[in-house]
Amino acid sequence: MRRVLQLAALAALSITAFAQSPKFRVLAFYSDTVEHDHVEFAHQAIRFYEGAAKHDGFEFTPTNDWNDLNQKKLADYQIVLWLDDFPHTPQQRAAFEQYMENGGGWLGFHIAAYNDKNTQWPWFVRFLGGGVFYGNNWPPLPATLTVDHPEHPVTRHLPANFLSPANEWYIWKPSPRENKDVKVLLTLASSNYPLGMKDILRGGDLPVMWTNTRYRMLYMNMGHGDKIFTSDIQNRMMEDAIVWIGQTKNAIRNASLEK
Ligand code: ZN
Repeated sequence: MRRVLQLAALAALSITAFAQSPKFRVLAFYSDTVEHDHVEFAHQAIRFYEGAAKHDGFEFTPTNDWNDLNQKKLADYQIVLWLDDFPHTPQQRAAFEQYMENGGGWLGFHIAAYNDKNTQWPWFVRFLGGGVFYGNNWPPLPATLTVDHPEHPVTRHLPANFLSPANEWYIWKPSPRENKDVKVLLTLASSNYPLGMKDILRGGDLPVMWTNTRYRMLYMNMGHGDKIFTSDIQNRMMEDAIVWIGQTKNAIRNASLEK
């Protein structure tokens, strides 16, 4: 009898442990020493995703130590976030490459994808789908965005067009859309042009959010200043984005090859 009770207690314990184990673990990198508007966004994003973690059942850990971008640490996490910054050393870059090439997940915001002729990290440009930073509007402004794929898990709760809060929008050359592996999910509507005052975006294809289907990755350009999380519509998408990456195993690459 005592043995049966022990087994029952053990079973109850393991059920509890199962119910409480996170669906996936997220490690979010940020920096306190970068542009003020980017630090502000990062701190708001941390608060936002800490809240989302509670109701979506994942674990969320922020760190401003980019040396945590190493193979040993990353082994415990299914998603890495770059909240407005990027690796600073060859070792950090190498650890990230290895992680992503072996099925890791990535969600990058705003300047996380910034690269130009001085970056000298060809793997990263290919990973992004080929886009190199070409220009931006200034000051930060709201913009109407168009949903490219309304059926996608990240965009399915969005209306066909919506007003995204004030942001500094980046344009890329070439456009990542030219890469056949890239699926663009949100695009800056052409009705926004000309956009800006000091720095003006006058036209061109401006993908705002996309995935390179060869990886478990998603990039979104939002991430400048303290207005980003003021839209319930967009916030829902931000939450859907992390859940989508977390719940996608290695299926993205396979799915894209089947098409
Ligand atoms: Zn910015």
